[in-house]
Formats: sequence, structure tokens, C-alpha cells
Amino acid sequence: MDKRQFLKTSGAFLTGTLLSRFSSGEQPAAPRTNWSGNYTYSTDRLHLPKTVEEVQQVVKSCNKLKALGARHSFNGIADSTENQISLKNLDQMALDPKSRTVAVGAGVTYGQLAPYIDGQGFAVHNLASLPHISVAGACATGTHGSGNKNGNLSTAVSAMEIVTADGEVVVLSRERDGERFPGAVVALGGLGVVTKVTLDVQPTFQVRQAVYENLSLAHLETHLDEIFASGYSVSLFTDWQNHQATQVWIKRRVEPGISSDFAPEFFGAKLATTKLHPLAGHSAENCTEQLGIPGPWYERLPHFRMNFTPSSGAELQSEFFVARDKGYEAILAVEQLRDQVTPHLFITELRTIAADDLWMSPCYQRPSMTIHFTWKPEWPAVKQVLPMIEAKLAPFNARPHWAKLFTMPPSRLKQLYWKMPDYQALLSHYDPRGKFRNEFLNTNIYGG
Ligand SMILES: Cc1cc2nc3c(=O)[nH]c(=O)nc-3n(C[C@H](O)[C@H](O)[C@H](O)COP(=O)(O)OP(=O)(O)OC[C@H]3O[C@@H](n4cnc5c(N)ncnc54)[C@H](O)[C@@H]3O)c2cc1C
Repeated sequence: MDKRQFLKTSGAFLTGTLLSRFSSGEQPAAPRTNWSGNYTYSTDRLHLPKTVEEVQQVVKSCNKLKALGARHSFNGIADSTENQISLKNLDQMALDPKSRTVAVGAGVTYGQLAPYIDGQGFAVHNLASLPHISVAGACATGTHGSGNKNGNLSTAVSAMEIVTADGEVVVLSRERDGERFPGAVVALGGLGVVTKVTLDVQPTFQVRQAVYENLSLAHLETHLDEIFASGYSVSLFTDWQNHQATQVWIKRRVEPGISSDFAPEFFGAKLATTKLHPLAGHSAENCTEQLGIPGPWYERLPHFRMNFTPSSGAELQSEFFVARDKGYEAILAVEQLRDQVTPHLFITELRTIAADDLWMSPCYQRPSMTIHFTWKPEWPAVKQVLPMIEAKLAPFNARPHWAKLFTMPPSRLKQLYWKMPDYQALLSHYDPRGKFRNEFLNTNIYGG
């Protein structure tokens, strides 16, 4: 943040006595861009409450407000023209081994959560490619890892504490609020400010990760399920050249009596003998351990290690979810655009996710395969290519990842997200005056 921004932000806290009580005084606000730096937030007003009561007062005092997580989304989903609220000071964690749940403050990241629960013998079912994201922010957008049988991260949510537009604290749980709960979990920050999330946990487990090089994509025509079932979590990376996956990352659980060994060959692909980064030429130092070395789930399920910059750093991302049984056809459709895609691409990743019943989840009632693009930071060019990809994937009813870059019109989103009318009704119930609506929601949920 530059000096002007810092002074403006500090000023915002100090002008109102109400707000100044919530600032940490000497602590400068978070940078005013997202993690990637491709999106600059439209307000300098960032509230940093330390308690749920302070969250309630912030919510009551603002006409417009949006919760900000760890800033890892690539579009304006967390933006506001008036006020943002960061829950990073709400970082309490409480494990309940009896009910096999953990309750976390909305500021907690997966990187903080994982060693805490692992130390007490527990794990969550899956993680995204990086641990740096907040639990609340990830679950709000349907963030996922990979694995045919693994639902996205939000499927672990069993309860949420939310401060709604009137400043009241509402607790919604899977058990008690069966009808509306599936609409509230992946809420794109629209329902209110989540202050606490309760997640299902399971006994901790060990994982071995290995990488194979150069798998012909032709094998996916008849073996897609088998290839993605070859581990607990499987990712294929491709640059769309030569009809091949340059790397296959397989993460296997270490279970007694079941072999987790890696054969030297996998559908003709060769087992790597050195540690690799998904991007050719990048050091693998920031990647999680490979070469089949067993380790705790949270040090193998993400691709990137906690204390290092994930991925490339300066990048953009887009991702589309298709029905898994149409996965190979969808790959062939995108492959036709390789000459337009590859010059602007760092890498594509293919993953699978189990179906769920969360209304705004891209995996809603559909076992999915995702086609992800890590782009070079070349937005003018990427903006031209995205509509072409979306057109190629239209026959497969590809749903975009809410937190990444897409150009699909809202009229199309309505066709793809079948529960959009119910979601709108839920937002109207908890936020009748649109306090938590921002431009992203106005365009993508209410536009068109
Ligand atoms: C390098 C990199 C790798 C990534 N890898 C993956 C991946 O493997 N899989 C995947 O699916 N995605 C991935 N993403 C996308 C990322 O998971 C999503 O953008 C996620 O939503 C980011 O969480 P966050 O904590 O940064 O939230 P933010 O981006 O800050 O906010 C996201 C949304 O959550 C809402 N929100 C945040 N906190 C609260 C709260 N307390 N109450 C209510 N709403 C809230 C915001 O309003 C906003 O709508 C990646 C992103 C990056 C930069």
C-alpha cells in the first residue's frame, strides 16, 4: 500500500469514533489489491473488528459492506465501493473430538487450521492447491481440490455463524436448517458476514505424492475415471500441446493393507525421479513433497507449501466445471483453441470433484471435471480468449468458478446455476436492502 492509501485508510478509521474503536490503531490496513494484483479494490475503508460484537456494530453502521477473506479471488467478488470488513483477527479454533467437528473464526486460513487439528489427530477431507486461503472465503466460493470422491471444501461445512444485515447473529446448521442451509454455504459473501464456520473432521491420515511425466490425453477417452481414480486426489497438467498431460500428480492415502506404491509407468507416462513444479523451468522448492515420500495430509494435498509463494505469483486464473462423463469431449473442444490459448497460458490443470447439493456450488448435483487455466498476467489477451473457451464449452454447460475470471453473461449463468432463484430469495430474506450486494453480485446474480 502506498502512503496516500495508508493515510486515507487510517483517516477512514479515525474520523468516526465508532469505526476507530474497531481499528487496531497502529496496524495498517491490508493492501488494497487482491493477491494477484490484477484487481484493485474500490474502497480504502477496511474494518478490522476483533470480536463478534464489533462485527455487529460495523454491520449496523454501514449501508454497504463486503467481507474480505485472504484476497485470493481474481475478480471483484469481495469488492465494495464503500466498506470492506476483514475478519482476520477472529482466529480462534476449537476442536470437538466427540462430534468430530472443528469450529474456526472466519479469519482462520487452512494453513493455520491444518497443523492445529493434525496435532490432535484429525484432518479435513481435502484442501485446495494452496493453504493460504481463509476457510470462510474458500467455502463462500465453492473452492475445491481434486478427487473423484471428494466434494469441494464447502461440503465439510456443518454450521455457520453469520452477522446478517440487521446486525443480528444467526446460526445456520446442516442438521437444523436442512432446507436453507445448502443455499447459505456457498453464498458468495451475499448473505452476511460469516464470523464462525464449523467443519467436519476425520482421523488424520498420511499421503504419498508422486508425479508422472507425459501422459497421452488419448487415454482419457476410455480411462478418464480410472486415471482420476488412481489416487485420493489426482491432477493432470497440460499446456495443450501434443495432446498430452505434461505432468500427472497423484496423491495416495497411506492405508494399512492397501498398497500406495507408484509403478514406474502409468498409462505410458514415466514416474518422475526429481521433484517438479507444474510450470516447466520453475523451481520445485515451493511445491509440496513428491517422490512417494509419506507425510501428513496437509503437507501433500495442496500443491504448494505454506511458507512459499504458491503457483507463479504474477498470474490470472479461470476455471470451468463440466460433467465428468463429458470430460474428454470438453478437453477436445478446448484443444481446438490451443493456438489462441497457449501463448497466454502458464498451465492448465484438470481435476475432478464429487457432486454436492449446495445451490451455488459449480458441482451442484453433477460429478465434475474442471478445466483450469493459469494465465500469464495479460488480461487484454485473456479477455479475448475467454469468450472463445466459453463458446466451445457451452454444449457441456460448463459452469465458471465464481472466484476466477470469466466473461459469460448473467443470462447464461442463470441457466447454469439452476438454484439461482432460490439463492436470490434467500439473499432477500437475510439482506432485504442489499447491504452485502456489490457490483459482482449486481451483475452476475441480479443482472441480465
Ligand atoms: C494461487 C491461487 C491458487 C488457487 N487455487 C485454488 C484451488 O486449488 N481451487 C479452487 O477452487 N480455487 C483456488 N483458488 C481460488 C481461491 O480458492 C478462491 O478465490 C477463494 O475464494 C479465496 O479465498 P479468500 O480467503 O482469499 O477469500 P476472498 O478472495 O477474499 O473472498 C472470496 C469471497 O468470500 C467472501 N468472504 C470472505 N470472507 C467472508 C466472511 N467472513 N463472511 C462472508 N463472506 C466472506 C468474500 O466476500 C468473497 O465473496 C486459488 C487462488 C489463487 C490466488
